[in-house]
Amino acid sequence: MGIVKSRRYCYEEDRMVLAEKETPNHVLHLLLSVFTAGVWIIVWIILSIGASFNSYKCPHCGDVTDRKPPRGWKPRGRRDDED
Ligand SMILES: [Zn+2]
Repeated sequence: MGIVKSRRYCYEEDRMVLAEKETPNHVLHLLLSVFTAGVWIIVWIILSIGASFNSYKCPHCGDVTDRKPPRGWKPRGRRDDED
């Protein structure tokens, strides 16, 4: 599994975080498809569809993140007293 990162809003922490999402390892699936004479393509497709529904998770609290913060939300600036 690979990981893609995106800057998203964490509701739990009320701030923007570098959220992470797991993606299928397509090179591995391609090799498995070749070795299984194409049978693995079915598994690959199912996993790819499942991964597309995977949401970006906050790396700190593991909560689901949103693409954009709520309307009117403003960053409170750096909060170095936390973590
Ligand atoms: Zn969080």
